[in-house]
Amino acid sequence: MTNDGAFRIIACDVSSAATKVVELQKSSGVEAQKLVEMLVASVLVRETTAPNRRVQMRLSQPSLPSDLLADTTGDGILRGLQRPGSGEEKTTVLQVTYSLRGGEMHQSIIDAPAEFSVQKLMMKYLQESEQIISVFRLHCHVTDVKTVATGYVVQLLPEAEREGIVAMTRHITEALDVSDNQLPWEFPAELIAKVADGHEYTLLSDEPIKFSCSCSRQRFILGIASLGRDEVENMAKEEESLETVCDGCGSVYNISPHEVLQLMDSRN
Ligand SMILES: [Zn+2]
Repeated sequence: MTNDGAFRIIACDVSSAATKVVELQKSSGVEAQKLVEMLVASVLVRETTAPNRRVQMRLSQPSLPSDLLADTTGDGILRGLQRPGSGEEKTTVLQVTYSLRGGEMHQSIIDAPAEFSVQKLMMKYLQESEQIISVFRLHCHVTDVKTVATGYVVQLLPEAEREGIVAMTRHITEALDVSDNQLPWEFPAELIAKVADGHEYTLLSDEPIKFSCSCSRQRFILGIASLGRDEVENMAKEEESLETVCDGCGSVYNISPHEVLQLMDSRN
């Protein structure tokens, strides 16, 4: 936050988590690029609007074969998924869901025109749904060698005066854009100093982001149980062992139908 109360700057480097997601989702090309941008954007949006909550974002566009999902929680966990589209006519939307531990949810859906870059879409989302005026900048590259997933957002606070806003916007869109490749993208603290452009500021928080998946054996057992008792009893008769693979992290779980029946019995 700048000491004059005019701007809040948030920067992040989630390259290591994004590398993991791209690898696990076997993402490539335009989809990999957009997926990585969504990952960075989800962290910046969470930190801008609701740092302690869970933020899930889904981008669905006709030009993308898959829906792209980014999911981040207040304890610094980040994950992502690439889901094949449903085959029906695809929607063109960005859906953002916030959830609290208690289960309370808040969802916004905005139109996501294909010609909008992810960063432009985020500015539109923050303005339309959160009444936050911001400048969003993403710096993401996916190559065979390396995934770079960085970005920053400058939020204009109510204290900001017109002159200051104009100067800051010009600084970001002219001065910083020109030197885009020279910016210290992978060092968020240094990046913030560059963006602050001589404003005095105080660093309010600094937290690590890492990839992690929320899957568990229990969760898959519950999933199989939802098929219904008859189905599970049939599988048990045939002594099938069920191999399930988590989409999020690639973990493989071998589950016996007997285990599922045991759980169903214990809940009755
Ligand atoms: Zn998993």
